[in-house]
Amino acid sequence: MSTIIDGKAVSLQIKEELKEKIAAIKAEGKRLPCLAVIIVGDNPASRSYVRGKIKAAEFTGMDSRLIELPEDVSEAALLETIAGLNADAGVDGILVQLPLPRHIDESRVIDAIVPEKDVDGFHPVNVANLWLGRKCFVPCTPQGIIHLIESTGERIEGKRAVVVGRSNIVGKPVAKLLLDRNATVTIAHSRTPDLGAVTREADILVAAVGRAGVITGDMVKPGAIVIDVGINRTADGHLTGDVDFASASEVAGWITPVPGGVGPMTIACLMLNTYSAWCAISER
Ligand code: NDP
Repeated sequence: MSTIIDGKAVSLQIKEELKEKIAAIKAEGKRLPCLAVIIVGDNPASRSYVRGKIKAAEFTGMDSRLIELPEDVSEAALLETIAGLNADAGVDGILVQLPLPRHIDESRVIDAIVPEKDVDGFHPVNVANLWLGRKCFVPCTPQGIIHLIESTGERIEGKRAVVVGRSNIVGKPVAKLLLDRNATVTIAHSRTPDLGAVTREADILVAAVGRAGVITGDMVKPGAIVIDVGINRTADGHLTGDVDFASASEVAGWITPVPGGVGPMTIACLMLNTYSAWCAISER
């Protein structure tokens, strides 16, 4: 039976540490870090994610602004809102909750956020800097995954890591972060033949697919660290991961639950990035 990696506990520790730092900033009478979150429309999942982000900001004591725009807002109006936040010296981090309605070009929106306030780490300048090994905002979910792996106390260096999924927001950046820590990394995807043969090689297995139960216990190397990024909704409305927890937890050494694994870490790392943005602005 494997040890559960408690994302709630690890994320709480990060937020508690931030809370102390922000209390110190307040005590010095300085301007507090501020995260601006833009949400377009009424997508219930997006609303719930945004609520979680604002709640976390409140928990740490940082300022936040929630900007709610209607589903039919024009792309031009959204870009204008972003331009206003870019120019606003009281805002350190800007996040536009994705996905956006179809009439809005997501790339244009991401590109419009100044890289210095792009706390999601999605702007091409931050992506390029990540791959060049330069200072950047590391995207929140991949950053959170690394924290979770490190929380096991196991070394990443020298391990075989397999990342299933090659999206720009999870698969590719987490593979780069693992590579930076000297893992030997394989990225698998929907065209990978015999996925199980690949995943069984993994000392560290990251599943970022978006399909419930795509990773089963027989695809896990005994003792492996298994990080389940997937958020899938079952027919009865429950959340479940990409990993079949019952069978995989019989084989893995460590495993993250869904919910309560990667999800809370994404939010905690958003807070870390906002604090870093504040530090960079304050140092200027
Ligand atoms: P994408 O849909 O962008 O990417 C999914 C990836 O999985 C693709 O690379 C795809 O391959 C691959 N894939 C699909 N089917 C298979 C298969 N049968 N076998 C192997 N690989 C497959 O998803 P995201 O990366 O955005 O998200 C992945 C999951 O993580 C989702 O459930 C999402 O909700 C969740 N998520 C959770 C977060 C959190 O905070 N916990 C944050 C972000 C995402 P190909 O490229 O060939 O199509």
